[in-house]
Amino acid sequence: MGVNRGFDAIVVGAGIAGTASAWYLRREGFSVALLDMHHPGWGASGRNPGFLWLQTKAAGLSMDFSLACRRFAESLTGEFPDFCFRASGGLIIYRDEAYEPVARAFVADRVASGLPVELLERPALRDLCPDIGPDVSGAVWNPLDAHQDTRLLVRHLADGFVQAGGTIVAPARAEAILIDKDACGGIRLADGTEIESRIVVIAGGPWSNELLSRLGLAIPYKPTRFEAAETAPAPFRIKPVVSGQSLFRFFTPPGVDVSMLPREPSERIRPELGFTEQIASYPDGSLQFGCAYEIGSDLDRATVAGQAMACSITSRNFPGIAGLPIVRQWAGVVAQTPDGLPVIDSSAGLAGLIVNTGHFFGNLAGAFSGRIVADMAAGRVPAYPVEGFSRNRFKPAAA
Ligand SMILES: Cc1cc2nc3c(=O)[nH]c(=O)nc-3n(C[C@H](O)[C@H](O)[C@H](O)COP(=O)(O)OP(=O)(O)OC[C@H]3O[C@@H](n4cnc5c(N)ncnc54)[C@H](O)[C@@H]3O)c2cc1C
Repeated sequence: MGVNRGFDAIVVGAGIAGTASAWYLRREGFSVALLDMHHPGWGASGRNPGFLWLQTKAAGLSMDFSLACRRFAESLTGEFPDFCFRASGGLIIYRDEAYEPVARAFVADRVASGLPVELLERPALRDLCPDIGPDVSGAVWNPLDAHQDTRLLVRHLADGFVQAGGTIVAPARAEAILIDKDACGGIRLADGTEIESRIVVIAGGPWSNELLSRLGLAIPYKPTRFEAAETAPAPFRIKPVVSGQSLFRFFTPPGVDVSMLPREPSERIRPELGFTEQIASYPDGSLQFGCAYEIGSDLDRATVAGQAMACSITSRNFPGIAGLPIVRQWAGVVAQTPDGLPVIDSSAGLAGLIVNTGHFFGNLAGAFSGRIVADMAAGRVPAYPVEGFSRNRFKPAAA
């Protein structure tokens, strides 16, 4: 491997969380090695369609943190080359009338949590989104939802990191965290190379527990597979980011029983799959759409049932997509914690260890989490209070 000198900090995992951590640590003046077992952006950060959803977040910490992340994401547009950030606004559309009261309850909840959402009927919806299908009857609109190319952002962060003197070590699999006198001493790679460092940041997405569990510090996240696909350039543009009614079964408004709500025939092919009905336009005119998901699955490949669901329901939402060639189909695995929030923690159980994982909405939180990690390493008050992101929050409450 040839890299065995010491660094001030080693970051394991070059997704959005790890690459941003490495970049901000380097900006603090630390010497930093960023490791990835494949290459930067190989994991979910290079495989997602770039949605920055605010309206899917529950009131309280999740919403407050997401609003801070959204402000931070937009601020990056002045700092990095274009990564296709668009303050696009977002829609959650519904077709079946049975979903209308659910959408109303959803709006009431989000308005109460401070989000400027509103219910749109079909005429206003068509003004925003002229290519919407005839079966769609209404939508929830949130002007704060946004879109970016996360894969491009990771590339810019990695390039900036290297230009600023950071070292990327890839492909290189971290096999163990080294311990030196009850503190982090570095990382041992799968080929046996040891790299010294007093600070180790674990940002390995759903693979983080392979390292943390050896120290008895595993985090109770579940892997969740999300699938997506991309079309050739379309002759039309969809300005907002869009998702659809089946999303309400995942992000259920309080007081609503969604178990009796109608499902499409394609949603019954494999009932264990969920679906989010998302679609977004890219600057070259291509459309990325999905996302079937399966909680508990770490299969990082698209499935027949997931793609069948995405193609059939998305074609109802946007009939113009049905004739377009599909150029790619893929899946990525995300670490889902019990409360959906990440673990960003510098007191997880070993001096010098900083955990930055469990990112379920990492498009939104990933870059900001890197800023927070650098603050922790520098001994500064973090850019956002981190008490709610501690690993210890998952411990059973004392009797
Ligand atoms: C199809 C899809 C749709 C999504 N939709 C959304 C959305 O609408 N909104 C949203 O906010 N988020 C969404 N996400 C989730 C988002 O992509 C993730 O939350 C985010 O990318 C997680 O970033 P990460 O850096 O934590 O992990 P990852 O991007 O998975 O990066 C982890 C990296 O760590 C490396 N690694 C792991 N272990 C080791 C090791 N031992 N040694 C060396 N390297 C290691 C891996 O190779 C990988 O590159 C979606 C994801 C997918 C796949």
